[in-house]
Amino acid sequence: MTSDELKPCPKCKSSDVAIEIWPDNPLGPLRVGCKACQYSPDWWENTREEAVEYWNTRPIEDALRSEIELLVKAARYLLNNIYEFGAPTDSVIIEAVEDALSKVSHEQPQKS
Ligand SMILES: [Zn+2]
Repeated sequence: MTSDELKPCPKCKSSDVAIEIWPDNPLGPLRVGCKACQYSPDWWENTREEAVEYWNTRPIEDALRSEIELLVKAARYLLNNIYEFGAPTDSVIIEAVEDALSKVSHEQPQKS
């Protein structure tokens, strides 16, 4: 088991992460923790493979990261248009924001 099989720490992004072994822990002997910031999930596994898989599997974080990426792209698109063409019309802003929101949410935007 090498450390490059482990994703970097989700809190501080350090790759100085390692498997922690607590043989007498009633919840399980193994988990992965970050040596740089001391973060470790409050979750224990019985095998190294399970501990590594738990550390590396972050569906919520991955989903949020891709939503943030889309929103940042929408903001950049708006800013680039402003730099290039001056202040956009309301309809350009509304269209860009609705487009970005439709990619991250299945809810229809509330029109007031
Ligand atoms: Zn860390």
